[in-house]
Amino acid sequence: MSLRRAFTILTFAAALRAASVGAAPQQDASSLFSALESPVISGEIDPPALLAVGRAVIRPGAGAHVFVMSASGRPCGVLIDGSATLTYTVDETLSVPLARRNASRAHGLALQESGSQATLSGTLKGTAVWGWDIDKGLGAPRPASTKLPEWLATLLEKKTERNPGRDMVLSASSPAPGYRLAIFHLADDDLRLNVNPASGVRTESLGHYWKLPAISSRAGWLVVEPIVSQPIGRRWWDLASPDIAASDTEIKVVNDDGEHGVITTRTKVQALADHVDMLQLELLSEWVTARDERRLLKITKLTIDGTPASSLQLDWNLLVTLPRPLSKGQSITLEVTTEGRILELPEGDNYWELGTDAWYPRPAWPGAEWAAFHISVTTPSRFVPFAGGDVIQPPTASNGNTIVTELKGPMQYATAVAGRYKTVTDERDGWRVHVSTYAASREAEAHRLAGVVHAVRACLENALGVPYPFHDLEVVEINDWGWGQAPPGMIFITKEALLSNASAAMLDEDVRPMAELTSRGINERIAHEVAHGWFPHVAKIVSREESWLSESFAEYASAVCIQRASADTKRGKFLFDRQVSGWKTRTSALSDPASVYLAEYLGGREADVRDRQRLLYGKGPLVLHALRQELARTAGDEKEGDRLFFTWLRSYIKNFTYKLGGTRHLVAILTQMTGKDWQPWFERYVYGTETPKVN
Ligand SMILES: [Zn+2]
Repeated sequence: MSLRRAFTILTFAAALRAASVGAAPQQDASSLFSALESPVISGEIDPPALLAVGRAVIRPGAGAHVFVMSASGRPCGVLIDGSATLTYTVDETLSVPLARRNASRAHGLALQESGSQATLSGTLKGTAVWGWDIDKGLGAPRPASTKLPEWLATLLEKKTERNPGRDMVLSASSPAPGYRLAIFHLADDDLRLNVNPASGVRTESLGHYWKLPAISSRAGWLVVEPIVSQPIGRRWWDLASPDIAASDTEIKVVNDDGEHGVITTRTKVQALADHVDMLQLELLSEWVTARDERRLLKITKLTIDGTPASSLQLDWNLLVTLPRPLSKGQSITLEVTTEGRILELPEGDNYWELGTDAWYPRPAWPGAEWAAFHISVTTPSRFVPFAGGDVIQPPTASNGNTIVTELKGPMQYATAVAGRYKTVTDERDGWRVHVSTYAASREAEAHRLAGVVHAVRACLENALGVPYPFHDLEVVEINDWGWGQAPPGMIFITKEALLSNASAAMLDEDVRPMAELTSRGINERIAHEVAHGWFPHVAKIVSREESWLSESFAEYASAVCIQRASADTKRGKFLFDRQVSGWKTRTSALSDPASVYLAEYLGGREADVRDRQRLLYGKGPLVLHALRQELARTAGDEKEGDRLFFTWLRSYIKNFTYKLGGTRHLVAILTQMTGKDWQPWFERYVYGTETPKVN
């Protein structure tokens, strides 16, 4: 599981204002972005009877004035200055529980439910809507000389979100833009509706601006808090497909001095759709350290096919303008060099970690990273460098302490670590597990941990019929408690995983309770990280709603293998039952009935973050167990039920080996296998909010 998400949210909240790099041709992305974020009033039009934005309908009241907004001399939206009414329809049944959960978070938004739909309504004091084609059919504007109203200018100044600017820039030369961003000004709140019909996204989401409290270093800034999201022109389970993919990525990390690093990335990006004229990448522009210190990651070079390219850096997004639009199948090579003091040595420890955050440029959603990696990491001689993949060249004094690895694709997330580590290699049947412990060598514990990895790997290979993707697996101890992470070729695991009874007894009084708490179920946690080798490194996912295919499936598969790996059957059953009862406890702790499938859409409050965990690591695996029991019940035989259940998992992994799959495919496989339509069952327990009975 990834508690690292908290870090991402913090970074998000601590957003910087726009900064641009690279050469600037006429009308570059950076100046267009700025113009969109503070548009000018270019004319006035007669008020329309209504304005439709996604599923919202806005009706201007008597006396309201309607203006055209422009950016860089081009109409970019309309502004309703004065009263209007808003009705927003939630007609995607599966999204209704989200609206029910979150509507009251916005002041002045009323929720009404009828049948399987919901309507949110409110009285607006002002409305601003961006969209390249929104003014079409609204009549010719007449001259107007006025400025943006105070409320809107202040909101645009204080908001941390990068829309409308980012997605308007991205759709600026699209033949069918259709993108909309609306800001609704209520008496005591402001709402934001983002409508993105682009083929890779097809989602609209309503939220409200939440003011960061005084305790934050960014007090008073506005963050969007989600209320409800809905798919556009599809049901939730119809996958939106990626528009670009990174296929070959070479990364060079040089830790030249202290916490400073220089990172060079060369990546081949292919268009998976027609008319790709701008790359939307993920790349952090700053790093927030454990001591809340902000450090910049600066771009010093950026080229496309060897020629400097114009780009726009926005917090964790990097937009790169292509010299010419790409058609489906065409590709370019992007080269980016960055540097900064981002190799943080946490609390003075002697290691740094470049984890799953975007420390090098890679496609942002709806793009995919399906790359083969060539990674090289150079560190001062006092540190041992690591990177995911097969070791092509180990670090030596003669090569300047450089490790070179290769990771077969398609994979997502390159990672690198370096520090004062001691490594123990445990090889069984040609599979090598390298366990690196921090500061001191702990040989017995390292072999014990490697034993769990080998047992679970062998069990899952046997159950799923597809080999584990990583012949060399680096397991690296992180000097912290209570989490694990499994980027490709690497497992980060915190120190309770490498604690012997003797060393546990020697811990200080103040950390002993933490060690005990986190040590419980440690084998299950290691097994969970190994299971990520298949879920999702073998069977690929890209959409947020498919998260359960990674987390809940890894959770269930690892529980099965911990049971199977137990020499003693009774002990194995005890361990499995203990997991099931943990899933039940988490499920019953949910603050509201919620959908496993939409776990990532709950919101960003503490209760939402907890419920997300309960859904993905509790209700999700519980639903899988219920399905296994249901198969046994309908077959009238537990053995036959198990056979069907594991054949189903195996078919999914085999059919989607290194391919993009989704829950809908799992439903189809099950339906084909059993001759019974499983869609209604999934609509209740996976897509919907019901909890199945489990014995
Ligand atoms: Zn996980």
